Amino acid sequence: MKFSKIRWTGFTWNFFTGCDEISPGCDHCYARVIAENPRFANAFPNGFAPTFKPQKLGDPFKVKEPHFCFVNSMSDFMHKDFTDDMRDRAMEVMLECDRHVYQILTKRAQALPRYVTGWLARKGLTSVPKHIWFGVSIESDTYRFRADLLREVPGIRFISAEPLIAPLSSLNLEGIHWLIVGGESGNGSNNFRPMSPGWAVELLMKARATFFVDPLLHAMVAPAYYFKQSSGHRTETGIELIGERIEEYPFYPNHLTREEYFAIQTTLAEKAAERKSARAARISETIKQKGLIDQ
Ligand code: SF4
Repeated sequence: MKFSKIRWTGFTWNFFTGCDEISPGCDHCYARVIAENPRFANAFPNGFAPTFKPQKLGDPFKVKEPHFCFVNSMSDFMHKDFTDDMRDRAMEVMLECDRHVYQILTKRAQALPRYVTGWLARKGLTSVPKHIWFGVSIESDTYRFRADLLREVPGIRFISAEPLIAPLSSLNLEGIHWLIVGGESGNGSNNFRPMSPGWAVELLMKARATFFVDPLLHAMVAPAYYFKQSSGHRTETGIELIGERIEEYPFYPNHLTREEYFAIQTTLAEKAAERKSARAARISETIKQKGLIDQ
């Protein structure tokens, strides 16, 4: 368990690690870079090979305050090498430790409805509890079908359009509660594909023009929009879109009180602001040390 630099979440929970590439969005997979780095050999003895780590299953209980939890940032929940039994064991933890909001993201959307439908039947449920969100990554129009498959999952649904490497003009946001948009980060190198701000603005307009009646929330819903970052050398550069930060979360009226829910969001916003000012201070110090400006 690790508190995360990913701005839209609180901590990561990696009981699965390792994966393999499935579409162009994977080309510069940060998880592979980390898992294959010799410096992290102790944490990833199998490198990027899919690995189940049952000893990690209890990690959410160690985080006492309610938080957002990104499930398997170092893998894909629906990778074929993991079994439904392994997934079910993690879902049990999510049901029991329900103070957190779990964010489960996959690119293997074809496998998702079958698994979730089976899990709901095994648990005698008709929809996924509202503190467990399923999402799909979509990097371009070619993969918009993943949203159609996600719509077959009854529950809170989200789309991560990151890295956005081409326009996503035909994305249908009906039934989608949360849309995250971001360009590719080069992790300090030039190894990123550019995202036109126009693609992100088009998705913002689309989110603003979408409304649907949600049978789970018994309410009219508009997708929340979260702009994560422009494409660039590093994460957390260019976190404004058309001059402002747009960091919305879907309305979530379950388990947590509204105050607790908004407290999580405030913590994340403060964390992001601290990082930004720490980074600015580091840059300013470097400039001084290199004598680039008068002191
Ligand atoms: S699905 Fe995710 S974890 Fe797997 S290779 Fe692609 S980007 Fe990496």
